[in-house]
Amino acid sequence: MNYSVALIPGDGIGPEVVGAATEVLDAVGDKYGHIFNYVEVLAGGKAIDETGEPLPEESLEAVKQCDALLLGALGGPKWDTLPGHLRPERGLLGLRAGLGVFANLRPAALLPQLRFACPLKDEVLIASNSEGKPSFDLLIVRELIGGLYFGNRGRSADGNTAFDTESYSRHEIERVLRTAYTAASGRRKKLCIVDKANILESSRFWREVAADVSKDYPDIETSYLYVDNAAMQLVRAPGQFDVIVTSNLFGDILSDEASVLTGSIGMLASASLGAADSPASGNSSDKKTVMGMYEPIHGSAPDIAGKDLANPLATILSTAMMLRYSFGLEKEAAAIETAVNRVLDSGLRTKDIANRGAGTAEKIVGTKEMGQAVLKAIENI
Ligand code: NAD
Repeated sequence: MNYSVALIPGDGIGPEVVGAATEVLDAVGDKYGHIFNYVEVLAGGKAIDETGEPLPEESLEAVKQCDALLLGALGGPKWDTLPGHLRPERGLLGLRAGLGVFANLRPAALLPQLRFACPLKDEVLIASNSEGKPSFDLLIVRELIGGLYFGNRGRSADGNTAFDTESYSRHEIERVLRTAYTAASGRRKKLCIVDKANILESSRFWREVAADVSKDYPDIETSYLYVDNAAMQLVRAPGQFDVIVTSNLFGDILSDEASVLTGSIGMLASASLGAADSPASGNSSDKKTVMGMYEPIHGSAPDIAGKDLANPLATILSTAMMLRYSFGLEKEAAAIETAVNRVLDSGLRTKDIANRGAGTAEKIVGTKEMGQAVLKAIENI
């Protein structure tokens, strides 16, 4: 099968990590009989330099013609002093809104090889883990293009009051809940809805909509938590969670909290998904694809850019999410995850995930060597 993948390598370490990830994708294609056609698109700082805008209209249009988007990172000190509407981050927001990707999926799992990087004690991790292991494996689904970040905001005439508005329609809640239920179906079948329904009317509405939607997923165990309790439970017993779904604001905060528990920003992937029937989806008539934007959660890391020091695993794991969520290629996605695990088992580490001073048999490698190791591990699966 052929798939078209828009590539925005972006700025800083973006081109290095995206380069490693596409080589891995091609290895998956060779092994399982798929062809990934790449369309390189300009956005972020590079686009500002070449066109004066962070997201030229033709870039968004080019991405919409593809089946999915893989992005490295946008931004850097060079563009920090530009006015807000011209900054690289505008490119990111423009892509999310323009592609209609309303659900942001961020997995946070503690790999046994990186146990040292998690700040929680063994007994805390084991307490909530049904297998009695010091680990956790959860997925946060954050609503991405609604709520407080997109609601009415302003200042009073006298300048002494400011307001932001949390507003959600039934449609906005229902679609992100369905994405979360679908994700839970492929995992441990538990969904926790996080809100502040004891105070907020919008949260009570989320619960009302969830009561309806949950009937369509009888095999999924649905639970509810207030966000303050959820923030506490994440550090008290993270193993109790499978999938968490929540609003834009709560998801922004909780997903950063969860990412810290896994130890390294260089390992964390993300997917932002639209609807299967969105205008930017399913461009190929012979298959069903879901438009998605896939990116590591880290930024452009200007301090290490161009030095072959960046950890490419977050971007490589983002391509696994692309195969799973946009193309429905579960076997291929699992192959990438297995390959990453085997490479870590073999002791290969980029500098950011090295267990300095612990005396373990590790070999420190650069971006390219890490990418090549994953590629070879895929060939040997
Ligand atoms: P950052 O994530 O780029 O870097 C934070 C720290 O983590 C740095 O020390 C960096 O070297 C390290 N790091 C990040 N990714 C790494 C990797 N793959 N391997 C090894 N080490 C890694 O965050 P920042 O420094 O706050 O931001 C730098 C620039 O990136 C800013 O311009 C910011 O606006 C932009 N940014 C972009 C995105 C995005 O495109 N989605 C996200 C966050 C920040």
